[in-house]
Amino acid sequence: MEKVASAAKHMEITGIVQGVGFRPFVYNLAVAHGLCGWVRNTSAGVEIEVEGAADALDLFTRQLVSKAPPLARIESITVTDVAPNSYTSFVILQSEPRADAYQLISPDIATCADCLRELFDPQDRRHAYPFTNCTNCGPRFTIIEDIPYDRPKTTMRSFRMCPDCQAEYDNPADRRFHAQPNACPACGPHLRLVQGPVAADALSQDDLIGAERSRGAPFSFSPAAETTGEGFRHSRTDATADLGPVDANERVIQETSHLLKAGAILALKGLGGFHVACDATNDAAVSRLRQLKQRPSKPFAVMMATLDDVRRHCLPSSAETELLVSPASPIVLLPWRDDSTLARAVAPNNRYLGVMLPYTPLHHLLLREVGRPLVMTSGNFSEEPIAKDNDEALQRLGKLADAFLMHNRGIYARYDDSVWFVPLADRPQPVRRARGYAPSPVRTTFPLGSILACGAELKNTFCLTRDRYAFVSQHVGDMENLEALAHFEATVALYERLFRIKPVALACDMHPDYLATRYAQERATSGGLPLVPVQHHHAHIASCLADNDWPPDAGPVIGVAMDGTGYGSDGHIWGGEVLIADYDSFKRFGHLQYLPMPGGEAAIRRPYRLALAYLQSCLGALPGLPFVASVSPTEVDIAQRMVEQSINTPLTSSCGRLFDAVSALLGVCGEASYEGQPAIELEMLAGDVQPTPDSPYPFSVDSGEVRIIRLEALLEAIVRAVQAGRPTPEISAAFHNTVAQMIARLCELAREEKGLNTVALSGGCFQNRQLLRLTVNALQARGFCTLLHRQVSCNDGGLSLGQAMVAHFTSRGNE
Ligand SMILES: [Zn+2]
Ligand SMILES: [Zn+2]
Ligand SMILES: [Zn+2]
Repeated sequence: MEKVASAAKHMEITGIVQGVGFRPFVYNLAVAHGLCGWVRNTSAGVEIEVEGAADALDLFTRQLVSKAPPLARIESITVTDVAPNSYTSFVILQSEPRADAYQLISPDIATCADCLRELFDPQDRRHAYPFTNCTNCGPRFTIIEDIPYDRPKTTMRSFRMCPDCQAEYDNPADRRFHAQPNACPACGPHLRLVQGPVAADALSQDDLIGAERSRGAPFSFSPAAETTGEGFRHSRTDATADLGPVDANERVIQETSHLLKAGAILALKGLGGFHVACDATNDAAVSRLRQLKQRPSKPFAVMMATLDDVRRHCLPSSAETELLVSPASPIVLLPWRDDSTLARAVAPNNRYLGVMLPYTPLHHLLLREVGRPLVMTSGNFSEEPIAKDNDEALQRLGKLADAFLMHNRGIYARYDDSVWFVPLADRPQPVRRARGYAPSPVRTTFPLGSILACGAELKNTFCLTRDRYAFVSQHVGDMENLEALAHFEATVALYERLFRIKPVALACDMHPDYLATRYAQERATSGGLPLVPVQHHHAHIASCLADNDWPPDAGPVIGVAMDGTGYGSDGHIWGGEVLIADYDSFKRFGHLQYLPMPGGEAAIRRPYRLALAYLQSCLGALPGLPFVASVSPTEVDIAQRMVEQSINTPLTSSCGRLFDAVSALLGVCGEASYEGQPAIELEMLAGDVQPTPDSPYPFSVDSGEVRIIRLEALLEAIVRAVQAGRPTPEISAAFHNTVAQMIARLCELAREEKGLNTVALSGGCFQNRQLLRLTVNALQARGFCTLLHRQVSCNDGGLSLGQAMVAHFTSRGNE
């Protein structure tokens, strides 16, 4: 009997609706309600034409939203009534590219429960297959070169699906229906283990065998041996050559596991680049990795097989656990248990440990096989971009890794692990935003023009805006070399292509020497586009406002930017700022006293120099302190002369530098091997120590048009406390409390004068949990509303968002 459609609807859906199983969902829903018509992907989202009985159509429309697949995110549905076309079935049509249209793109998603079940099911055809994925999980952003998101536009195009995979892909009832990275052992990517020539140079065989002997694992080390699955040219014959591809993958994982247990350092190709891994319980391996990576003390992240393992080493709260097991599966900074058996060298002098759960099938297989937590740090030296291609890794990480676990699924976009922390209960914040989050935009309730904001020097991200979206890029890294600049440029091009954005204005930091600033200048000149230089701390505050979707007509807030260093409008280096700011303008209300920074940026690596200079300036002479005695007289002399004669000694109001100076003064950290180390170690000491009765230490505020917090009394009090033999943790706790009280005092003055009651907190210093908690408590006790970061980082990683906002509202004002 022929059905007669009584009504028909045409629908356009935008949001994250591709690569997340949306079309099969629509298909199944239509079939379930006896409806006919079609669905297809467009460059803008998903388009549906559907017809049938009117009540069935209504139900279909409602369930389209209420029953959407877990990873789908519907932004808008436009429904129009159309004339029925007498369709006789419901079909999925070819994708329809449209000029200028764009869509949101899903980030890469951690392995789902269904795929995990298959992975460990010996009966399943994907048993132990390291590239298992489905429409609910797997790579997305890292493999996509252009839209619409279909296999030919991804790095999976070189793999031709076998009949079984193709059948799944074509079957609307299957959870792999149109899963673009669909693969199996017969047709998909494979692993290869290369024990490199590297190993021969970088490591004497005895080291490894020695490590192996002590653990008693059966293991023979053969440099240049290669274990390979299908899809790679066999460069030598070995035992795995006769095995089928499944067995070869398993064999590779077993071999890799043997190497790791024996203390070797492995380079592992993941979703968005290479990790460098070693056994996190092996002191010697971790120390050797530190030596080879030239990274003496910056904490490493650790991957643990299960949540139970995590609880054995850390004390995650419920909010932290929620982050760990989320589809984004980020690294979460967790309180580290004293009885953890991990090597302390994983995160020296730290009470927190960066932990993540396995997020690819390969990780699950490997972690289970190894049976102990693994250090998993980015495959790079210092802060250069993470290595992503096999050849690149062999070349760049050759001196680092004893062996390489690689695969032949291409990575298009470099994509570091994201890092989150929960400094205040239920108020998680990102420290680094990348895998699992980018390229999802920050949404605003107000429209934005097409702006490209180029970000800062360290922890660079950029931000492209259009409509109500701010596409903040994944973490690009420190823009200190040409590799980083090349990565930056390629990623900008990718975002402009994917989201069809042609910037009409550019934004950059006011610092003339940042590589990102120079890029912006060149592009503005060559493209004839307006360039808006944005003051660093104004950008921090605007970023925090946008992060909270602060309405542009809501007026200014009190912006507290406690930060490292940023170029100030007066030519000095700012970083301890209280601003009266909205999106398009700011006024400096107050700041920390200017103090000398001998040697400029170089002083950041030598906090003892800052301590000498601060004491000299504030107290007029150097007091007798153990730390002063520990510095060579020549160094003391140099610092003194630089300050007196103002040679290469800029002035700074930076809060970060104050923390550096106090850290050195207390003998906690006199030389920094990574950014923020002195402040972090100082914070760790304060821990849960309650501030003492003499806290806060005294300070005063100069009246004047711009309020200045004087630091003389504070430094004098700290010196006295040291001389009186007070315990360092107690001094550190009191110091943290004092800074919080200084901030609260300036906010009170701003409220009295300006009648404002909302305080936005931004800047890298607020990654200090202790400072953030004490500040928020002090402000709340005084009745202030506080705005904290939620989606982008308070450090310079969030800066591009603020720059884009300032540029948008400034250029709008000039129209
Ligand atoms: Zn899955
Ligand atoms: Zn297959
Ligand atoms: Zn900053």
